[in-house]
Amino acid sequence: MGKAKKIWKNGSLINWEDANIHVMTHALHYGTSVFEGIRCYKTSRGSEVFHLQRHVDRLYNSAKIYRMDIPFTREEFCTAVLDTIRANELEHCYVRPIVFRGFGPMGVNPLGNSVESYIAVWEWGKYLGDEAIEQGVDVCTSSWNRAAPNTIPAMAKAGGNYLSSILVKMEALTNGYSEGIVLDTNGYVSEGSGENIFVIKDSVVWTSPISGSILPGITRECVMKIAREKGYEVREQFIPREFLYIADEAFLTGTAAELTPLRSIDRIQIGAGKRGSITADLQSAFFDFVEGRVEDKWGWMTNVYAS
Ligand code: PMP
Repeated sequence: MGKAKKIWKNGSLINWEDANIHVMTHALHYGTSVFEGIRCYKTSRGSEVFHLQRHVDRLYNSAKIYRMDIPFTREEFCTAVLDTIRANELEHCYVRPIVFRGFGPMGVNPLGNSVESYIAVWEWGKYLGDEAIEQGVDVCTSSWNRAAPNTIPAMAKAGGNYLSSILVKMEALTNGYSEGIVLDTNGYVSEGSGENIFVIKDSVVWTSPISGSILPGITRECVMKIAREKGYEVREQFIPREFLYIADEAFLTGTAAELTPLRSIDRIQIGAGKRGSITADLQSAFFDFVEGRVEDKWGWMTNVYAS
């Protein structure tokens, strides 16, 4: 990975090389971390972070679910993200805040362990490859299911949740696909290993509901807003697996994947087997927004160097 110069640790900036932790850190043994993935774009107005506040809110929600008190206000955390980007003098980057249970008493109970906060930033290109954004990717239905409700909370973006995503991703790559689509324990389409999913059929835009064991994606929320504003009907409803096979178009959304079209699933071609027209419409509206080619009418962007 492309490393940067500074990492924010519990309120101060330290050198990238010094951001190390002890092997007996609670999070390493039990997965007790919560984190975010945020993008800072190079826009026509300068460097701007996409949905900073919403990401920090989700981080605090994830921490709350796991009874972790982050010893900074949300405003301080937002400022820390901007300070970290500035300290690294980056024009565009990926931002990874992480809060975890640190070194302390060993054992499952985390309540006696410290809560550590870090923010790292680095330059990161297109997650599923440069071509994926235009050509689309080939995906499979995973043989793994999402965690059932009332097991591991899907709404928390916690480190431990990603053991499931890792199994899905490794299986997909091993079998020659770019990504795996995971069903929930009722057999409905939930999401990708690190992305939400949208399906288009007869000009209606469908996406799985929050109750379908998904992470409530911030890109998902924005794409729904953009789609409704453009006049498309958007339905948050349970999606049967076979609906993907007969869809006209489908795409994935996420901070890393941005808006990536699907061209096949389980080797069944979706629509014309290339980016469809509604996907292209939503994708260009999304990139126009985050790359600053249109006015920030919803206040989704935070300028890094001007503030
Ligand atoms: N689902 C999962 C499991 C994810 O890891 C992500 C990436 N954070 C998403 C969905 C998409 O969320 P967002 O648009 O907020 O990045």
